[in-house]
Amino acid sequence: VVLALLFLGGGAAGWALSSSSGSGAPVARSQAPDRGRLDARIRRVERRVAAAREGKSSDDRLPSNQAEPSADRSHSGGALAGKVISIDPGHNGGNATHPEEIDRLVPAGANGATKPCNTTGTETNDGTLTEAEFNLDVADDLAARLRAAGAKVVMTRTTNDGVGPCVNERAEIANHADAAAAISIHADGNETAGAHGFDVIHPSTAEMVDPSDAAPSLRLATRVRNALVGAGVPPANYVGRNGLDERDDLGGLNLSTVPAVLVEMGNMRSAEEAAKLESPTYRAQLAGALALGLRHFLESG
Ligand SMILES: [Zn+2]
Repeated sequence: VVLALLFLGGGAAGWALSSSSGSGAPVARSQAPDRGRLDARIRRVERRVAAAREGKSSDDRLPSNQAEPSADRSHSGGALAGKVISIDPGHNGGNATHPEEIDRLVPAGANGATKPCNTTGTETNDGTLTEAEFNLDVADDLAARLRAAGAKVVMTRTTNDGVGPCVNERAEIANHADAAAAISIHADGNETAGAHGFDVIHPSTAEMVDPSDAAPSLRLATRVRNALVGAGVPPANYVGRNGLDERDDLGGLNLSTVPAVLVEMGNMRSAEEAAKLESPTYRAQLAGALALGLRHFLESG
């Protein structure tokens, strides 16, 4: 309860800041009546997120086997007909050789925060697999699965020899497509001995340009988390809680105006987990779980 109250306070303060200073321009008087309705809407969203945090709805406890819809409908085809899904394979293979382009600062939040356009990402200790390459491989597999189920997939990049796009452009691609869900695929590079497992990151209202997406983003994160756990992928033992993590510092999530999550599929700096991430079988398992989580979200919310 204390956490929830703190969160409500922080969220409301964050929004108030964004509405007064986000654009640098004063709020027009003619918008005042809308402000009241917006305030009420934000409060409703924040109550739902707070309730979710207390375990009343899409909570952050690990799932029971009965919690999810049946998983054996992948043959039904067309289950996702008409749905637009944005897939963002994090980083890009050409980023490392173009520091001047990827280091420039771009907007990354509702309150004036900025971040580098993009980063290089991590790699395995032996240097045989870069995160950028891994991300695109899993993303391509996921895209194929979603398209086979009838979805329209919008990718933020389709090759691994380019530079960028910037995090704000990646968000804009999903926003412009009015995606029903946006998923960003990454792998982590944590040096802590024994650190391993996946982590599904969802945005905090504090920096979101559209705080009403906090609750659906948490539900999307929970669906994806449950599907990964169901596929036998271990939740991270060094970050987040039960495979879920709320953050306010990721530009791609902050700038999304659609339900969005970022998944760290595993820790590339763990030699043991890196071996799994290099395995085509394990990658297929990951892509299958992401597809299932997305489908459960799109079918059932
Ligand atoms: Zn990454």
